[in-house]
Amino acid sequence: MKKAFLPQTKVLYLETPSNPCLTVLDITELSRIAHERGITVIVDNTFMTPYLQRPLELGADVVVHSATKYLNGHGDVIAGFIVGKQELIQFMRKHIMGDLGQNLNAWDAFLILRGLKTLGLRVRQHVQNAEAVAQFLEKHPAISRVYYPGLASHPQHELAKRQMAGMGGIVSFEVKGGYEAAKSFINALRLAMISFSLGDPETLVQHPASMTHFSIPPEERAKFNITDGLIRLSTGLEDAKDIIGDLEQALSPLLTAAAAHQ
Ligand SMILES: *Cc1c(COP(=O)(O)O)cnc(C)c1O
Repeated sequence: MKKAFLPQTKVLYLETPSNPCLTVLDITELSRIAHERGITVIVDNTFMTPYLQRPLELGADVVVHSATKYLNGHGDVIAGFIVGKQELIQFMRKHIMGDLGQNLNAWDAFLILRGLKTLGLRVRQHVQNAEAVAQFLEKHPAISRVYYPGLASHPQHELAKRQMAGMGGIVSFEVKGGYEAAKSFINALRLAMISFSLGDPETLVQHPASMTHFSIPPEERAKFNITDGLIRLSTGLEDAKDIIGDLEQALSPLLTAAAAHQ
């Protein structure tokens, strides 16, 4: 990070855990390094919500959330929040808001306020389900890799335990067999739905190589471990047994296909 800062750098923009491979960054340490150089730190806290991670208390200057995700939590609103010191918010209100966007409409604001009442309950269930799903996937023979900060195998597991009050509801994993295997797997799911979004009551899956990260050249994607077999899963609020049962039935044809190949 130090090497990436240029004399004209004004902002350090972090997303932790990152999308889609859930790399965890040290907010306290990176804020300290940025502040030594007078650089403002912005953290995208969408994957965590304030229930699991509080970047302002760790030294960040501004927090942004896609309220479309867990904060509203019901998949029926598109909105965002910016949180920070009053001077910064006033600056944005005066100089940026008029150019980039207007107020949220009253109905969407109402839906978010209603969703927020169950944030804690929902997030606890999302996290519990994600932990069960990550453990199931880590043992499955059709899977080559699982990314979840709560697994001891995650490279920043210790940092995640210090920085986050829970490990979040997103689990990413790689199916063996690349693009075709990933495609046939998500098409075979019956409970989980295919969606670009996350943080809904329903379990959602997406295939970054053909969806969210399709516009990035394959060589660039490879640098960030976004392989053709990678799947991002947002665990919903269903019973963990139902989610795992669905994953199991959609993964088993991959094992049969792999055996036929040998
Ligand atoms: C979805 C998402 C966004 C964009 O939010 P929208 O509400 O879809 O505009 C930004 N950051 C992260 C981490 C997201 O998941």
